[in-house]
Amino acid sequence: MKKRSLLFLLMFLLLFSLPASAATKTKKIKEGQKTLSLTVGSKVQLKVKGVSKTKWTAKTTSYFKITKKGLLTAKRAGSAKLKYKIGSKKYTVLLKIKRKTSGSSGSSSGSSGSSSGSGGGTVYWVPNGEVYHSTPGCRSLSRSNTILSGPLASCPKSRPCKNCH
Ligand SMILES: [Zn+2]
Repeated sequence: MKKRSLLFLLMFLLLFSLPASAATKTKKIKEGQKTLSLTVGSKVQLKVKGVSKTKWTAKTTSYFKITKKGLLTAKRAGSAKLKYKIGSKKYTVLLKIKRKTSGSSGSSSGSSGSSSGSGGGTVYWVPNGEVYHSTPGCRSLSRSNTILSGPLASCPKSRPCKNCH
């Protein structure tokens, strides 16, 4: 079936655009549950308790991403609505996405916009990485001890990081 392989490809692409560290866990919610708490970067397979068929509205927002199969990825701290259907009943669950750090303040106020990248600036990469980064503070780099930097022209990596670009 062609449709199936296309779906597979899509899933593959989705997986590839995520940091590899996130392991998929199954998260069960109750039918009609109002809120769901997650942490940034977590990837969960959503299930509604006692329901075998749930129609998830596949969606990509700046806060989260979900596939039709209910594979949810939390991307950014904040609140966002997620819709799904069970039979003909429609539900909305409010995702409350928190920062990873088990810090004190739970408010999502800090908005430091440092994304505007002008071409030809300094980029950052790790020896065994596949991509280059626009900032040494990128979360993909946080796992690495050795971070190399230099002008983009001298960078051996050809692809930009999807987290910080
Ligand atoms: Zn990055």
